[in-house]
Amino acid sequence: MSAPVPQKIRLTDDRKALQITWSDEVVCTYPMPLLRKNCPCATCQKDFEEKGSFYIPLFTAESLHLMDVRQQGHYAIQLVWGDGHHSGIYDYPYLRTLCPEIIASAGTES
Ligand SMILES: [Zn+2]
Repeated sequence: MSAPVPQKIRLTDDRKALQITWSDEVVCTYPMPLLRKNCPCATCQKDFEEKGSFYIPLFTAESLHLMDVRQQGHYAIQLVWGDGHHSGIYDYPYLRTLCPEIIASAGTES
């Protein structure tokens, strides 16, 4: 079986989360702070590394306002935030590891 790809990407009605329906029918709901906190771009990763795992970033409303979701080829999406940050490219396998629903079900099955 090939790796799952997003079939549908939408904002939740309250616009506080991004919902991805995958080709294997798993539905993942990503709260904006989760996505922003796990931004895979070099700048954010370096920032989080320096501050350590106990660092809880405080985000402004703009930085959690998702402006745009851009498809990056067939492997990733790019998120554009309200504060202008747009260098985070989230590839599909990475998004699967962030998915709260997948993490929750992995926890109960083992
Ligand atoms: Zn970033």
